[in-house]
Amino acid sequence: MASQHPETLALHAGWRRDAATHAVAVPIYQTTSYQFDSTENAANLFALKELGNIYTRIMNPTTDALEQRLAAMEGGVAALALASGQAASAFAVQNLARAGDNIVASTDLYGGTWNLFANTLRDQGIETRFVDPSDPEAFRRATDDRTRAYYAETLPNPKLRPFPIAEVAAIGRPLGIPLIMDNTAAPLVVRPFEHGAAVVMYSLTKYLGGHGNSIGGVIIDGGTFDWEAHPSRQPLLNEPDRSYHGAVWTQAVKPLGPIAYIIRARVVLLRDLGAALSPFNAFLILQGVETVALRMKAHCDNALAVAKFLRSRREVTRVIHPSTLTGLDAEWTRKYMPHGQGGLVGFELAGGAEAGRRFIDSLKLLYHVANIGDARSLAIHPASTTHSQLSAEEQFATGVSPGYVRLSIGIEHIDDILADLAQALDAAGG
Ligand code: PLP
Repeated sequence: MASQHPETLALHAGWRRDAATHAVAVPIYQTTSYQFDSTENAANLFALKELGNIYTRIMNPTTDALEQRLAAMEGGVAALALASGQAASAFAVQNLARAGDNIVASTDLYGGTWNLFANTLRDQGIETRFVDPSDPEAFRRATDDRTRAYYAETLPNPKLRPFPIAEVAAIGRPLGIPLIMDNTAAPLVVRPFEHGAAVVMYSLTKYLGGHGNSIGGVIIDGGTFDWEAHPSRQPLLNEPDRSYHGAVWTQAVKPLGPIAYIIRARVVLLRDLGAALSPFNAFLILQGVETVALRMKAHCDNALAVAKFLRSRREVTRVIHPSTLTGLDAEWTRKYMPHGQGGLVGFELAGGAEAGRRFIDSLKLLYHVANIGDARSLAIHPASTTHSQLSAEEQFATGVSPGYVRLSIGIEHIDDILADLAQALDAAGG
């Protein structure tokens, strides 16, 4: 596929037609296993001397088309699809760090990722050092000999300020530390590999799937990070793997390209932990991916219009959207999101928590759900839902005030979205 354009790759990369039936749409290969041609072929597949299908926990042709498509669209070399975004975040880190190691992560993370890092991975012996992303040098200061990766989100909510990808990637690369970017909120809008990220992950549940019907995740290997340059920094890729006849991943798959990271994630972590995406979900997500470029443009345009509209309303004390940022945050918005700023908008109601509840209860078009990135417009009042278990101080620390409302603006006609917001604001008062 000669094109470099994500709009074209979204329709064509990774698949032309089915070899047997000539089907154009990617079929759902709903099979667990694949018959070997011979005992020699079976042995070669298991030894990675030949690449081919063995068992759907580790690979599947429907999922493979999705993986190739996403890798091509992102400008990476290989991808691993997984059962959820959570599995993708966990694998992305566990593929480099083991007990006694640490990662340095931005404080501005999705709550599920925060929990995974602060509790579950910590209990497994992997420490996360959280640093404020407004100072890229904080990543360097938190680094020591056991730091295996940096981790951040491109456009974290609720703050919606873009992460300084190039600045932090440039600190890590000379030290042998890859930057892993969660680009869930900004597919196509931000291109993390172009700014030096080594690995990109997504919750496919959001914009890439786009229709609110399937949970999924993916890790994409950019293919430009030199995992061998500092072997002691990345022991899991440079030391013999006792679970695979002593394979050294940076050497074992060299003839196949710069895919040591993603191969290990597949044949070690996916083999052992088993968070496989179902072929049916891969098919549904592929349908979403085909139109994601068009949808992202509509999400960006509508969200910008919503941000402008909210600024004109007297019930609203603050609008949170990249277009409203100032100083360094505004500079990073221009640098990383020159053509659109994503589909998320936050705002604060003067009337506090009570107004927030009234606003949500009055919505007629927007759905009240704990999701983002659906083609439909969505809203949530974090103080009474996702963040209700936190104390008031903890809520403030995560950027959630009592009157804070988060919107994930969809692709409906903008007039209908604004009309629904206007009538709900009238009802919320303040
Ligand atoms: N990363 C981000 C930025 C998210 O918003 C989410 C889910 O909300 C996840 C990761 C986790 O993805 P999933 O729900 O598919 O497990």
